[in-house]
Amino acid sequence: MKSDLSLLCQVLSPNMYNMQLWETSGHAGHYKENMFTFQVENQEFGLKPMNCPGHCLMFDYRVRSYRELPLRLADFGVLHRNEASGALTGLTRVRRFQQDDAHIFCREFQVKDEVKRVLDFIQYAYDIFGFTFELELSTRPEKHLGDVETWDKAETALKEALDDFKRPWKINEGDGAFYGPKIDIGVFDAFKRKYQCATLQLDFQLPQKFNLSYSAEDEAKRERPVMIHRAILGSVERMLAILLEHYKGKWPFWLSPRQAIVCPVSDKSLAYAVQVKDQIHQAGYYVDVDGTDRKIQKKVREAQLAQYNYILVVGEAEASSGQVSLRVRDQDKHEVVTIEALLNKFKGDVEAFR
Ligand SMILES: [Zn+2]
Repeated sequence: MKSDLSLLCQVLSPNMYNMQLWETSGHAGHYKENMFTFQVENQEFGLKPMNCPGHCLMFDYRVRSYRELPLRLADFGVLHRNEASGALTGLTRVRRFQQDDAHIFCREFQVKDEVKRVLDFIQYAYDIFGFTFELELSTRPEKHLGDVETWDKAETALKEALDDFKRPWKINEGDGAFYGPKIDIGVFDAFKRKYQCATLQLDFQLPQKFNLSYSAEDEAKRERPVMIHRAILGSVERMLAILLEHYKGKWPFWLSPRQAIVCPVSDKSLAYAVQVKDQIHQAGYYVDVDGTDRKIQKKVREAQLAQYNYILVVGEAEASSGQVSLRVRDQDKHEVVTIEALLNKFKGDVEAFR
């Protein structure tokens, strides 16, 4: 596909902008109380609550041609929203967060393919975590921006993309945002609890507010792009909170912040424990050493409570044979293995998720 040449550009955009930008985007009028604002050289600035307006500037910094579309800009930028202090909750409602955000600028006829790609991406990401999800299409509300014909075309493109995706979906008549139709993605965790994480929204309004255009095949003709807002995980902080509950704190090895810990039986095997740790670390895994002088049973118990995926006990016997006594999380049995066999096991665990 020719348009695939552009793939996805990861961009870094500023954390703060002059309020003029937020005037153009409409945030100053509708969203200002949710923003952190401040003075810089007697001008008002605001921390960005979302990346979209900045990406419109990036689109517009030079003349664009239809050949550049679809233009996909991805941004893990830090976002700030001034939530009421009483509303803040753990990692799920915070004032500073990051999204796996992207904005796709495309032509009307490209919407279907772009939406299909996003749906495939969502499927790919959620399969890794073992999430199931449901899809709903929200269509034109009574109060809407743009003409009915454009809406109809966009909704048809979304319907076709959903049909092609070959999963059941429902329709929410009249529940779209005033600036465009959207696909709502409800995610279910291991306890069948539903969350809204991913976003897939069409937007006719921002391209209009920023007066975005590109030259069509006939160079004299300027056309306005459609903008797609999309996030897969949504807020990464919030996704971490959901995953923490989904896995009940028992992270799969590839995602675990505590992959392994080496517990020497006594001081005599501490030097060997450190050597094992270095080998594992150099192979690219996360590993700790319990260098305290506590009894080995206590060390192992504590490592179990901390949910390390692997606990490696080393005594003088292991030190002389170059091995470790391996305990796997939530399994009673343990076996003695070489470092090479251990690293192969780690590799296999990571590859199982690819
Ligand atoms: Zn956006």
